[in-house]
Amino acid sequence: MDKCYQMSPIAVVHSPYKEKFAIPRQPNLVTAAHGKIELLLAANQHELVRDIEQHSHLWLVFVFHQTIERGWKPLVKAPRLGGNVKTGVLACRTTHRPNPIGISVVKFQGLSTVNGHLAIDISGLDLLDGTPILDIKPYIPYSDCVPQARSMMAPEAQKSSISITFSSTAQQQLAHYQSQYANFELLIRQVLAQDPRPAYRKRDLGQQEYGMRLYDCNIRWQINADICTVVSIDSV
Ligand code: SAM
Repeated sequence: MDKCYQMSPIAVVHSPYKEKFAIPRQPNLVTAAHGKIELLLAANQHELVRDIEQHSHLWLVFVFHQTIERGWKPLVKAPRLGGNVKTGVLACRTTHRPNPIGISVVKFQGLSTVNGHLAIDISGLDLLDGTPILDIKPYIPYSDCVPQARSMMAPEAQKSSISITFSSTAQQQLAHYQSQYANFELLIRQVLAQDPRPAYRKRDLGQQEYGMRLYDCNIRWQINADICTVVSIDSV
């Protein structure tokens, strides 16, 4: 098979996640993440989304556009295995794949417009802002949901016992942004509850400060024992 199949994105994602760091590893772990899929060019027509509200969830097929240049290897250090053990690229959900294509199920929240284009509102996404969408399909529970399915590598969502607090500075700053970004506090809490630190950092006892970008804010936080403190929330 030496054929090439050229595809163009039909849409682009508007996401609160402005950088890769701290994006959850799979969809629906952070339900407070709301985004929009802006339909482009020939896909920007009402006909394409007629009856879409009949489905509660949608499959997104997208391009891992920000990691393409780093290429791929047959074996990958999966974060799920602690970042040290290698597994086959086709046996995990790494972004570095022979074809840099990702799939995510997200919740359908309605239709709207953005930049004068038709948009599909979604929540629970695990996608970077600007992600190109190749296709959108309805999630069909009777077929897509396999109750007896098992994954020994990823048996369940990783749980962390982290509790999250806000410094008094962060609380004041949060109050300022709450009206601008709906559910902002919940979004920050749910993202941090995933413990976004790199696997090798989770063993550190030091209080290293981290920064993550959500919407147009830089959020600084640190973890000490099992307590994560949001230190500050500043406009970028
Ligand atoms: N649910 C998808 C899948 O299984 O194909 C994505 C799984 S992948 C492990 C999730 C990670 O992809 C996120 O944590 C984020 O860091 C990264 N990511 C999201 N959008 C991306 C993009 N457009 N380009 C590169 N990496 C992206």
